[in-house]
Amino acid sequence: MTQDQSPRPSPLRGTAVPGRRTLLTAAVAGGGAALLAACSGKPAAAASSSSGYGGSFRTSATSARLVSGPASADWPALARDLSGPLVRPGEASYPVAKRLFDPRFDSIKPAAIAYCRSPHDVATCLAFAGKFGVRVAARSGGHSYAGWSSTSGLIVDVTRMAGVTVSGSTATVGAGTRLIDLYSGLAAHGRTVPGGSCATVGIAGLALGGGIGVVTRAYGLTSDNIRSLQIVTADGQIRTCDSRSNADLFWACRGGGGGNFGVVTSFTFGTHPAGDIVLFFLSWPWAQAARVISAWQSWAPHGPDQLWSNVHLAAAPGGRVPAIEVGGTYIGTAAEAHAELEKLYAKAGPPGSQFLESTPWLHAMLVEAGCASLSVPQCHLPNQASGGQLSRASEYAKSDIFTAPLSSHGIGTLLTGIEALQRVSGAPGGVGGIAFDSLGGAVNRVAPSATAFVHRNGLFSAQYTTGWNVGAPSGGVNRQHAWQRQFWQSMRPYASGQAYQNYIDPDLTSWRQAYYGANLSRLTQIKHAHDPANLFTFPQSL
Ligand SMILES: Cc1cc2nc3c(=O)[nH]c(=O)nc-3n(C[C@H](O)[C@H](O)[C@H](O)COP(=O)(O)OP(=O)(O)OC[C@H]3O[C@@H](n4cnc5c(N)ncnc54)[C@H](O)[C@@H]3O)c2cc1C
Repeated sequence: MTQDQSPRPSPLRGTAVPGRRTLLTAAVAGGGAALLAACSGKPAAAASSSSGYGGSFRTSATSARLVSGPASADWPALARDLSGPLVRPGEASYPVAKRLFDPRFDSIKPAAIAYCRSPHDVATCLAFAGKFGVRVAARSGGHSYAGWSSTSGLIVDVTRMAGVTVSGSTATVGAGTRLIDLYSGLAAHGRTVPGGSCATVGIAGLALGGGIGVVTRAYGLTSDNIRSLQIVTADGQIRTCDSRSNADLFWACRGGGGGNFGVVTSFTFGTHPAGDIVLFFLSWPWAQAARVISAWQSWAPHGPDQLWSNVHLAAAPGGRVPAIEVGGTYIGTAAEAHAELEKLYAKAGPPGSQFLESTPWLHAMLVEAGCASLSVPQCHLPNQASGGQLSRASEYAKSDIFTAPLSSHGIGTLLTGIEALQRVSGAPGGVGGIAFDSLGGAVNRVAPSATAFVHRNGLFSAQYTTGWNVGAPSGGVNRQHAWQRQFWQSMRPYASGQAYQNYIDPDLTSWRQAYYGANLSRLTQIKHAHDPANLFTFPQSL
């Protein structure tokens, strides 16, 4: 299904403008009914795979002793101690309660899911986990690319602590708030916080690892906007962290990654005005891809802060020619945005199709989430809101932060890598590609050591993705995964070695250095100080 992106005179609101990823998926798939799905445009189903993170009971890092688990009466006792529900295997709500966003992780069977309603509930769960040696994982939006917000032990779910309270230029946000609800709650007050594009991503996972989105160059990362946060640490203490109190934890929780230091229950953010914003979507014929990439990388990271842009390259196994699309936002008028785009066209040549429109902020966030024609409640999974129309999706992701422009060889390798997917015998509904998100601007004006988010010299981040129809046979999925790994490997000579901790990647052997760089040793010290028994542990935990 090819999308018509020719200039449209009608207002963007109410038109069926696809989201950033949806567009590319549709463009390369070359036909077939596209079911609406959160963020990736993929239909959901269960392609199960293990996270490699099994065993309900943990071995304490300090004692190296296997603690005996809870007796069957201990779980009901925990349930009585909580103000929110505790869901256990065998209960009707368990199959949905244990799910993450990606059906790949449906095979994980938690011993229980605690829907905590208060920081006190969280402390009760942590005391239980510590007493019985039960593995514990915090869960907000459930979008971990590695499935590490689930566990065979106890999931501490924070989604019952959701909501947005605006006070002047700050907003207090429950840790279980999903991004579309964050944008909606703030937009009612004419305010915003920069965040990611996927509607159902949780604020906790996003903000703790950074948070890159469509106004990042103007307003910084999500984590750069945290003024204070409340966290329950392994000792059960409920701590408020800001620049004066628990300043070490405050530093670590701005980029140190979810799941490492405790369970965050709320954030207070500085907010920004949210009026109308310009959206644009442009495409060129694949034959011009090399010129477009060359032009984009010398334009997008260096424009005014108001300009944010990304470029997507995508292909399908056995599909037609790959597609290239540039999308973005501009905080200002359509005329100013046009003037910036003219600078891109001067280098890249005029696009084959162009869509540009100024639209209210919340609608822009819906468009970016692939929810252009949906209401805010509809822009949820069915179990998250009445009328929710999104569905879960499966995807492998890898990342890079590029700190230097790609050479012509690098661009050649990039295009070859994308084209190689056409020769892969993939899974039904298979797609794959790469998206570069421009950095620079406000992100790079923060010192690398000012917060735990170290990547302050990037020109653009890159995300390599491959997805498939849920339930597809594993053979094709595995071949797509092999393609993705090979593609990522081919880009090693051009990449910086830094990777984005929120695109957490179980394959990455050098993840400590790639995610945290020079901030690693301070992060490790803070981890040891606040979680000496390593209660919060997963394969890439600090
Ligand atoms: C489809 C999709 C689109 C995405 N788009 C973007 C994007 O536009 N920009 C961007 O920057 N990133 C994006 N991401 C990456 C996203 O930021 C991370 O996956 C993030 O960790 C998800 O947060 P979550 O709360 O939804 O996930 P979860 O799986 O709930 O949590 C992720 C990690 O944080 C921990 N955690 C969760 N809640 C808490 C808490 N309350 N306290 C402490 N630790 C906690 C978990 O234990 C886990 O380790 C996207 C991911 C997906 C799958």
